[in-house]
Amino acid sequence: MQERVAVFPGSFDPFTVGHESIVLRSLSIFSHVVIAVGYNSSKKSLFPLETRIRMIEKIFEAYPNVTVSSYQGLTVDFCKGINAGYLLRGLRTASDFEFERAIAQVNRMMDENLETVFLLTSPELTPVNSTIVRDILIHGGDANMFIPKSINIADYMNELNRS
Ligand code: ADP
Repeated sequence: MQERVAVFPGSFDPFTVGHESIVLRSLSIFSHVVIAVGYNSSKKSLFPLETRIRMIEKIFEAYPNVTVSSYQGLTVDFCKGINAGYLLRGLRTASDFEFERAIAQVNRMMDENLETVFLLTSPELTPVNSTIVRDILIHGGDANMFIPKSINIADYMNELNRS
């Protein structure tokens, strides 16, 4: 198969079953998916960047064609730097669409070789989002059903509480 490298950018604070589903489904289209954790100094995160990367690496440890990176700056520059031809994004709702449409069109104006590919969320995962999951975690609720089975989110919360 021709090399088709896609970048899946996001904050992933934390990575949810919604994100996992998009990546796994995209493997029927792409030969390699790079999950790119964006560093945003103005956005206060719950999990430090390094912890988010470690969690995602564990989730995909059985998938050699899924790798994890972090980046600063423009997503288009990151894609160019690693020779990725595709950007992968998930679409949950009409408001996601409006937001994503503008970003994808502007990205393509900046780099006409970069195509954004959208996958529609599986219906049962539409309400899952990192903001709600963070709130559940911060208030001591059980967020396991929203987190990929291959990691135990309590371990990472304990780490946070120790630091
Ligand atoms: P960002 O900060 O860029 O919005 P997120 O970590 O929230 O990053 O999301 C990264 C990508 O994952 C986005 O394309 C988003 O639409 C998608 N996504 C988030 N939650 C879900 C979900 N439940 N189902 C499918 N896609 C999702």
